[in-house]
Amino acid sequence: MDKEEVMGIRREFPILERTVAGRPMVYLDNTATSQTPARVVEEIKRIYTHEKANVHRGVHTLSQEMTDLQEQTREKVRRYINADSVEEVIFTRGTTEGINLVASSFGSRFKAGDEVILTVMEHHANIVPWQLLRDRTGIVIRVVDIDDRGVLDLKQYRSLFNERTVMASFCHVSNVLGTVNPVKEMVEFAHSKGVPVLIDGAQASPHMILDMKDLDCDFYVFSSHKMYGPTGIGVLYGKKRWLEEMPPYQGGGEMIGKVTFEHTTYADLPFKFEAGTPDFVDIAAFSKAIDFITEIGVERIARHEHDLMEYTQARMRDIPGMRIFGDAPEKSAVISFLVGDSHPYDLGLLLDKQGVEVRTGHHCAMPLMDRLGIPGTVRASYAVYNTFEEADAFLNALMRAAAILG
Ligand code: PLP
Repeated sequence: MDKEEVMGIRREFPILERTVAGRPMVYLDNTATSQTPARVVEEIKRIYTHEKANVHRGVHTLSQEMTDLQEQTREKVRRYINADSVEEVIFTRGTTEGINLVASSFGSRFKAGDEVILTVMEHHANIVPWQLLRDRTGIVIRVVDIDDRGVLDLKQYRSLFNERTVMASFCHVSNVLGTVNPVKEMVEFAHSKGVPVLIDGAQASPHMILDMKDLDCDFYVFSSHKMYGPTGIGVLYGKKRWLEEMPPYQGGGEMIGKVTFEHTTYADLPFKFEAGTPDFVDIAAFSKAIDFITEIGVERIARHEHDLMEYTQARMRDIPGMRIFGDAPEKSAVISFLVGDSHPYDLGLLLDKQGVEVRTGHHCAMPLMDRLGIPGTVRASYAVYNTFEEADAFLNALMRAAAILG
């Protein structure tokens, strides 16, 4: 992408014009959440100003218009991920809720001693729901390790499958190491053993072409706010045959067929899993975020981010004491690092004082930090609107911070 195009994109993000500590802000915390283009914010405002009515509840015009907007987004998501049917697209509060839903509902069929395979690079969102299930049912959690570059040990992955294995659940892209896992190959292997797979796509959905038919996974989850969309909503994709068999996750309005005190029947898919009033305003506005991504092209976005990462990493390696965590051949635009023995918070504060917004800490991946033998890292991550000038500003700020910390 040339500079002019990126500058054009930046004009959709007024927040990128702000200053921090008296300097132009350099926002490099895109892995945590990406910024939101004006078209999404305007759509939220337009709906609150002119369109708001509860969905699926009324014959009146506003309710029908709002329902159409919500369902158009569902169809747009279906196309974005190439799912078979909108019945397989469930709106959630985000990645975390999607995984909890699967662990709780699909997991209700698991028995004591059944085994679920995770990896050491999982976000807490793909660990704790399985531990809650373990506490309820007595399942056993098995964990796949990584090598020094942050690449999954696939040999170990394959060796963990046995007759007790009931599920494999892993991230598409690590939020700390940037490692892009060979998910298609991993799904194929799991399926050859008759084991269903959930993929945590929180860090893949803004950067990759997603094709559920090709990937053939059983469940896939992601969040809107990491895709230039509104906060508070996400998507669970699930294969229809599983979703039909699974019990509801929560009960309430919207998810029922007929209710009596003796017996309740449930709504058809996808509504069976959408109890209560959905976040219909943000769901409708998410549609504009998908337009934003698809107009530029997700592959072009990923290439631009990757170029920025390669440029930055190459220069970071010249800084004395620099330790970069994650060197997988397939890597997303995430750079986790430490300088010498400096604490990540000290580095983060010194960068903030120079206008550079990066994340510090364990990144909700404490088991991975333990595996790496560190308390945390500093993490810089790129999005489509970042520029090479910002990469330079980050590098200069980092060199100054490293010099101060000795
Ligand atoms: N999984 C991964 C890999 C993530 O990076 C994140 C968020 O950073 C999550 C899950 C949780 O996403 P959310 O907080 O939007 O539910």
